[in-house]
Amino acid sequence: MNNQTNPQQIAIAGAGLLGRLLAWRLRLLGHDITLFEAGKLQPANNTFRAAAFTAAGMIAPLSEAVVSDANVYRMGQFALQCWPEWLKDLPRNTTELFFAKGSLLVAHPQDESELQQFESELNFVVPECRNYQWLSSSDIQNLEPDLSPQFMRGLLLQEEGHLHNREFLQQLGDELIRLGVKVRENNPVETEAQAIYTTAGVEKFDLVIDCRGLGAKTQLKKLRGVRGETLHVETSEIRLHRPVRLMHPRYQLYVVPKPNNRFIIGATQIESEDRSPVTLQSSLELGSALYTLSPAFAEARIIEMDTNLRPAFMDNLPKIFCNPGLIVANGLFRHGYLLAPAVVEQILAEVTQNQRMLFPDLLQTSISG
Ligand SMILES: Cc1cc2nc3c(=O)[nH]c(=O)nc-3n(C[C@H](O)[C@H](O)[C@H](O)COP(=O)(O)OP(=O)(O)OC[C@H]3O[C@@H](n4cnc5c(N)ncnc54)[C@H](O)[C@@H]3O)c2cc1C
Repeated sequence: MNNQTNPQQIAIAGAGLLGRLLAWRLRLLGHDITLFEAGKLQPANNTFRAAAFTAAGMIAPLSEAVVSDANVYRMGQFALQCWPEWLKDLPRNTTELFFAKGSLLVAHPQDESELQQFESELNFVVPECRNYQWLSSSDIQNLEPDLSPQFMRGLLLQEEGHLHNREFLQQLGDELIRLGVKVRENNPVETEAQAIYTTAGVEKFDLVIDCRGLGAKTQLKKLRGVRGETLHVETSEIRLHRPVRLMHPRYQLYVVPKPNNRFIIGATQIESEDRSPVTLQSSLELGSALYTLSPAFAEARIIEMDTNLRPAFMDNLPKIFCNPGLIVANGLFRHGYLLAPAVVEQILAEVTQNQRMLFPDLLQTSISG
């Protein structure tokens, strides 16, 4: 831990992705951290479960720039450098948590125009980007021999990565306790400048950082939840080395390899705050996309279906509201793992009063949300 000359008593509300990362990085700087979580640090079910646990853990600046903007690409590039550096601070061997093997886009022969459209949009949003490569059928088979041979062309996006996010969140939870972060589970709170309101009363701190994701809707009226559904399957018949996206005129679905022969297939994106279980239609779409990628997935066992809500503002971009005694960070939408490093580093600059303006676009003056 660094010796911070002026350690502060900091409360963090929410132990999802942002809250956990901030607790870690601030503790390593020597601050005294109390982390309040409405649910459990290692959640067993869907009640109060962070979107971070449902996420697929893709770090995909190129794919996401196409559906957002060039800032997302730049922050995502920062994330690809930041994750491997941060992971070195975890005590266990972390090399198996983060992978920088790119991601692969494929389309049925009749939908190949989707790949061309993707390339045109990418060149429009990020004209300087050259880190992708067209692949032939044999290139695809060389990279991912277990994929169906039907794909004639593909795109390899070299500048993308993925993280085994559930394993990371679990390891980080253990590490926070080891570092002496005071974790207060089953503790839903409200926040105010220098104050945390629990069911037992008010507690005072030098600084409060609100990272409650959709739980902050009580204060951020413009925050909304965007429903996402995933399937988790297990099979030893198939090996994938990187995330694969199936480009289709009606939907884009992906499969991400996970430890122990598991794969996540995701994700739907529905403008609804309904957290109820995965619908039959979504499970059919997700399942058939998977089967298309390789018929060998037919024998995979479905081990989990998951639903959660992505916290988002109207422009689907993250925001940091800085006021004396209170910082609120939210709106990571479908870009949590992609954009959290930029958000965290900007907040660290605010807390340490470092004048560095890493990502000034993230900063907002009004907390109206
Ligand atoms: C289906 C799906 C797939 C996704 N895939 C990806 C992906 O591949 N790559 C990527 O970059 N992003 C992905 N995301 C997005 C990512 O999960 C989110 O952007 C990210 O988790 C948001 O982080 P957060 O910390 O703001 O919120 P969360 O991770 O939701 O954490 C909020 C925490 O606050 C707690 N909380 C709520 N209310 C209170 C309260 N009153 N008091 C105390 N604690 C409270 C919650 O219990 C939770 O633990 C995906 C999301 C979904 C739903």
